[in-house]
Amino acid sequence: MKTFCGRANPTTGAMEWLEEDENYDYHQEIARSRYADMLHDKDRNVKYYQGIRAAVSRVKERGEKAIVLDIGTGTGLLSMMAASAGADFCYAIEVFKPMANAAVKIVEKNGFCGKIKVINKHSTEVTVGPDGDMQCRANILVTELFDTELIGEGALPTYEHAHKYLVQEGCEAVPHRATVYVQLVESKRMWSWNKLFPVHVEAEDGEKIIVSPSEMENCPGVPSVCDIQLNQMPSSDFTILSDVVTMFSVDFSKPVRSASTYYRVQLEPVKSGKAQIVLSWWDIDMDPSGMINCTMAPYWVKSTSAFQWRDHWMQCVYFLPNEEPVLQGEKVYLTACRDEYSVWYKLQKARGEEENKADVRVESPVCRCQAHLLWNRPRFGELNDQNRTRQYIESLMKVLKTDSVCLCISDGSLLPVLAHYLGAKQCMHPSGIDLYHPDELRCFFFKFFKANHLEDKIKIIEARPELLTSSHLEDKKISVLVGEPFFTTSLLPWHNLYFWYARTAVTSHLTNNVTVLPQSASLHMMIVEFQDLWRIRSPCGTCEGFDVQTMDDMIKNSLNFRESKEAEPHPLWEYPCKSLSDPQEVLTFDFRKTVPQQCLSTEGSVNLSRKGKSHGAVLWMEYHLTADISVSTGLIQISNEKVFLQSNLLCQTVYFFSSVIESETLSDLPSAVTYAINFNTKTGEIAMDFQL
Ligand code: SAH
Repeated sequence: MKTFCGRANPTTGAMEWLEEDENYDYHQEIARSRYADMLHDKDRNVKYYQGIRAAVSRVKERGEKAIVLDIGTGTGLLSMMAASAGADFCYAIEVFKPMANAAVKIVEKNGFCGKIKVINKHSTEVTVGPDGDMQCRANILVTELFDTELIGEGALPTYEHAHKYLVQEGCEAVPHRATVYVQLVESKRMWSWNKLFPVHVEAEDGEKIIVSPSEMENCPGVPSVCDIQLNQMPSSDFTILSDVVTMFSVDFSKPVRSASTYYRVQLEPVKSGKAQIVLSWWDIDMDPSGMINCTMAPYWVKSTSAFQWRDHWMQCVYFLPNEEPVLQGEKVYLTACRDEYSVWYKLQKARGEEENKADVRVESPVCRCQAHLLWNRPRFGELNDQNRTRQYIESLMKVLKTDSVCLCISDGSLLPVLAHYLGAKQCMHPSGIDLYHPDELRCFFFKFFKANHLEDKIKIIEARPELLTSSHLEDKKISVLVGEPFFTTSLLPWHNLYFWYARTAVTSHLTNNVTVLPQSASLHMMIVEFQDLWRIRSPCGTCEGFDVQTMDDMIKNSLNFRESKEAEPHPLWEYPCKSLSDPQEVLTFDFRKTVPQQCLSTEGSVNLSRKGKSHGAVLWMEYHLTADISVSTGLIQISNEKVFLQSNLLCQTVYFFSSVIESETLSDLPSAVTYAINFNTKTGEIAMDFQL
């Protein structure tokens, strides 16, 4: 059997559906899964074990048999904990077949066959009774079905069903309760991931300001949660406007309702400012007393001794629909609305309680301004990066002349507007490159140009670059071809090389002495030691005394499966690393020329100049706009081995080495890592190989 997988084709900028081996999806799932990260999460594992022991004891003290239901058993870990704690029997439910198979093996290897029954079903399909999956209802309910937003993986409907059909009334639940906390903040940095800030352009005829359409101002944006490693956000990047307050909590030992609802709290701002963002996280109490607590609270809320790095649970950033000025001491109401799977927030000034209640509409946010469909959060962050914009402005000023005819090839780009203000005679912008949103794109740009009175100044060509004809260009030749470049289908930095293919396709429409901006791009690389990110790829061996090597082997096998072992995108500002080598340019792509027929290959070695663990290589692109102006999508600076990368949400590439070399001293340092990198010009893909 074959399955179809969506993949961006960097040579066409389009999504294509490729036939893949039936195991492809499953290997991707395992290789990129968070199972390893969970098994490395000592804090979580220890507390689950404590909570499970306590629950089993309470049931035993009542003189009952301890019958455990473990929903979403994964490796079988929590069931094995329960069995070791003296549970009489465990039903371990797992919907994902490869994991259920792994659980069977792991349970057997650890000698719990007679105590744990693995059931490969979704919990809502599980039957109870003499001929059912479970002989009887359970009196202990153990789960770990939480994501960063707590409920995004469907914990609420799963609990609702389990209480109705699978567990006894008055059952013990581990965790016993979850509590969601919020804090109101102002943050220009985070707000820049959600709204387009005015862009200031110093043009020859005075300052121009590019503004966004008014619809964007009150647009609630997209409903997907923004989950980040808030612990990497320096306190100078946000201003706290309220204390931490409890928004809502869920008692898992009682029947749970998943139906949409809302919660409201009163906040008294501790500082005046612009309320823009609700930061949120949760904690779980493993037992009713609250003595065994596992918290996601960020660094400024809890002591550092409680700190545990993890990537499977982080913190949430919620954007209010619009920024709201608040005054210190002047009460406001914060409302959390939720449906079965997600949460969103509204802020209201204190008024009559009844009036406020009438205001609560529980429908999930939808983008009304189209910008949030066109630009995702990293893209907003990139467009709002003023330093970056300045580089583009400076380089456009260098290359544009009053008679320039300018064509821009990039998705959702502001470059045509900049080029217009900076003096290009005519600016054109092909639309429809982004096949997903052509209507939104047209509609948004129509509003955007209108808001800036540019409707008749910039021409949107509704054709992909490959299909451009002279009549689209009004029989003119392009003298300046620009791109950021950026394309929404790009997953990895080099997928934006589609610009090069598009440039090649439009060659016949270019003047002989055309200026291409950027004139070239280069791929850069550095060997690093990660502070924490290495955990997501590192084998675990044993976890709380249980042998989980089967899981390690499974992940390794999936990583070695064709194509799974490839570069991964990660926004590296969230994952600190230190440099073990100097950054090195490994490949260059000359946009002034067309894409060559033959592949671009390079081989070489990077010297390891500092001691540490070589976890992998970090790669990023730099665009050389002109001979002396470049923008980097990765490294900004290295100081004292500490690496500073782009601080918006933009992804760089990580290539994890299959084995880690560790050097305690400089003398036992292997001198170099050798690499072979190949850019296949036919497919637009880059393949890499490293030897330690
Ligand atoms: N309990 C393990 C794994 C937790 S990950 C541990 O703590 O280490 C959550 C697992 O639950 C995933 O493997 C997922 O496939 C499974 N899952 C989620 N919802 C489920 C449901 N309703 N029924 C069965 N399995 C579920």
